[in-house]
Amino acid sequence: MSFIRRNIKMVLWTELVDGLALTLRYMFRKKVTINYPFERGPLSPRFRGEHALRRYANGEERCIACKLCEAICPAQAITIEAEPRDDGSRRTTRYDIDMLKCIYCGLCEEACPVDAIVEGPNFEYSTETREELMYDKDKLLANGDRWETELAERLRMDADYR
Ligand code: SF4
Ligand code: SF4
Repeated sequence: MSFIRRNIKMVLWTELVDGLALTLRYMFRKKVTINYPFERGPLSPRFRGEHALRRYANGEERCIACKLCEAICPAQAITIEAEPRDDGSRRTTRYDIDMLKCIYCGLCEEACPVDAIVEGPNFEYSTETREELMYDKDKLLANGDRWETELAERLRMDADYR
């Protein structure tokens, strides 16, 4: 019986017709995919993307070189060197993140007492070489300058839960 049914299906191409009917049904339904990168889905304020070092509104860098982020980083991706300035304040002279080591756990951001190091909403930073993913202080500060509006908004939205 199943042999006859199989042969009838083959001769009448019923499986092909079923497939086309399924395609037709889905053609008129609401689409669940988006046309990235022209359309984008929602992103949580807690999304952990590319790192950035933030500044205060007067342009002064927030980081006070306490090295808590370096100490807590489970991947040992952060390297900090620091020296006191002439005015006695303590600032980093080197702040590197090896983005290839980073596991995007967010602990550096959690540990920072002044919201200096943060993980922002940017996830589009693929590179062609490994060297480009060795971020230094200038790169991180530039990220902070570029994303400050979004970063401040994300921190504000998450403030009640921190
Ligand atoms: S997100 Fe985690 S792994 Fe990456 S630099 Fe921060 S603490 Fe280290
Ligand atoms: S980024 Fe934050 S936790 Fe890391 S050294 Fe600077 S102030 Fe300390």
